Amino acid sequence: MKFVLASKNKKKIEELKKILSSLMPDCEVLSLTDAGIYDEIEENGTTFEENSVIKASAPAKLGYIGVADDSGLCVDALDGAPGVYSARYSGGGDQANIDKLLKELENVPDEKRTAKFVCVMSAVFPDGKTVTARGEAPGVILRQRRGEDGFGYDPVFYSTDLNKTFAEATPDEKNKVSHRGRALYAFCEKLKGIIC
Ligand code: IMP
Repeated sequence: MKFVLASKNKKKIEELKKILSSLMPDCEVLSLTDAGIYDEIEENGTTFEENSVIKASAPAKLGYIGVADDSGLCVDALDGAPGVYSARYSGGGDQANIDKLLKELENVPDEKRTAKFVCVMSAVFPDGKTVTARGEAPGVILRQRRGEDGFGYDPVFYSTDLNKTFAEATPDEKNKVSHRGRALYAFCEKLKGIIC
């Protein structure tokens, strides 16, 4: 059985490969390039579910089991923004995204700075069957950066599970409570029920 991971992020591909291979030792896990898929996949959905299914559908149309994730930060005081637009929020990179977020929240009091990271994992089979699983991590947006690790919004996201920012956490600590860790766990449980 061949899985194709619809992501260009090398870290994500390695992480997913490891998990899927341990779950199903007989399966072959390929990247988009391995499968000869070079077309840009347009993420034009308005929800994490839609975008992750759009990405996982591309390999499925070629006869593979497509696997993809979509994730982002949802801030309550901004009605869920930046949400599916998290990566492109400011039009710049991670630092510009954080600067924009802190500016937008400048006048929001501490008790109203609640937020969550969301991740949705999807598998789409060649016959169209679709499996999705969602993971969420609760937190609060700080007024300034704290910590050196992680990526994206990690330095200003204070995890209420860990009582520190994701950028102050080790990768293992973060994985245990992160939206991605939680989505992956639920996803594997669902897949096991179907494939194994
Ligand atoms: P992607 O869809 O998983 O590539 O993530 C979209 C965007 O959401 C990223 O570019 C980050 O800005 C943000 N994001 C998703 N997960 C995380 C995380 O674990 N930490 C910090 N930022 C994240």
